[in-house]
Amino acid sequence: MLEETAAIAQDLIRFNTTNYGEGKSEGETEAAEYLGAKLEELGLSTTYVDAAPGRTSVFARVPGSYEGLGDDRSALVLHGHTDVVPADPANWTVDPFAGEVKDGMLWGRGAVDMKDMDAMMYGAVADILRSGKQPRRDIIVGYFSDEENGGVFGSGYVVDNNPEIFAGATEAISEVGGYSITMNGERAYLLQTGEKALIWIKLTARGTAAHGSRVMENNAVTKLAEAVAILGRQQWPVRLSDTTETLVREIARIMGADPTQVSPDEIILSTGTAGGFIRGSLRTTTNPTLLKAGYKHNVIPDSAEAFIDIRTFPGEEDAILAQVRELIGDEIEITITHRDIGLDNPFEGKLVDAMVGTIATHDPEASVLPYMLSGGTDNKALSKLGITGYGFAPLKLPAELDFPGMFHGVDERVPLDALVFGRRVLGDLLLNY
Ligand SMILES: [Zn+2]
Repeated sequence: MLEETAAIAQDLIRFNTTNYGEGKSEGETEAAEYLGAKLEELGLSTTYVDAAPGRTSVFARVPGSYEGLGDDRSALVLHGHTDVVPADPANWTVDPFAGEVKDGMLWGRGAVDMKDMDAMMYGAVADILRSGKQPRRDIIVGYFSDEENGGVFGSGYVVDNNPEIFAGATEAISEVGGYSITMNGERAYLLQTGEKALIWIKLTARGTAAHGSRVMENNAVTKLAEAVAILGRQQWPVRLSDTTETLVREIARIMGADPTQVSPDEIILSTGTAGGFIRGSLRTTTNPTLLKAGYKHNVIPDSAEAFIDIRTFPGEEDAILAQVRELIGDEIEITITHRDIGLDNPFEGKLVDAMVGTIATHDPEASVLPYMLSGGTDNKALSKLGITGYGFAPLKLPAELDFPGMFHGVDERVPLDALVFGRRVLGDLLLNY
């Protein structure tokens, strides 16, 4: 029989909660009701929020004893999301929604992002309550809908319409951090302390419409292609903030490299698979992702469009936009289609100390390193309520598993023993923080 954490993660994977974007999704209400019923079994009362039909989030508050906390009455949010990105079964070696167990791992869409953590959160709270204990502070357990499309029908809606759910909360713990990577034989847990800002822009080039056989200097497609190539090939420099400076220094130590002699990029690349993930978290990125131009092979169109996904460090959005403008020249129009804030939280303070200390108890040999997530999570929405969010889904993973590479990838899988480890680490943290 599967251990409870794995069994719950498996049940969750079997709910197809695909978020297709543009407001379309399925399964979120069923998954929220499943989790809500589980929380009620623990004696907690639940609050459901429907941002729209089928877009259900669920919350429960575990009351804290506040013993020994003095004047500190702050609550902690522990949140996950139930939705997943689409999975094409043709690309997977297993059915992505079957929740198969093989090779000591649980497979399926969401095994990594983030039904693993959803189950660990529940297991940690269940362990505390079943033992008759009480966490020191109030813990608000929440499962959001619509994280995978920016939280419009999830965290964004709940923060705007039901902020009372988070009354008293000042800090949060959630996903995309806390798992281990192995570099040079040393295990390190990546604690997510920040999230990059995002700016999605559309480039429009205009030219002269003409027959495809003409000599044409003013060709919109040519001009657009030049701008796209410039942004796509741009070598953005490593940005040394408090977070990334610490990260690079610590990785240099682990790799035995001298940061005064070797560039940050070389240090990061020397880590192997982990480097692919870390590189994007150290610098601005400007990736072309969509192109639209033309309608017939022998017609030069009068306009062409490209869509660029820009991720910057928090607060640098406007400076980067100005640089983008300079790089591609004045002739290309730039339209901002979407933007969201970044987060940059300190790698210090009581909660960080508690997370680092709990890892030290459960995996004494390992180190904990801060990093800036290149993507975003529901912590962005919660920050509007003054809640400081970290990514800490603790998983002790085998060295050869490229865990970061499986977010939104194929064959998502998580070791069964890592789920048990995560449940215990979270349980200790929640009980003692
Ligand atoms: Zn996620």
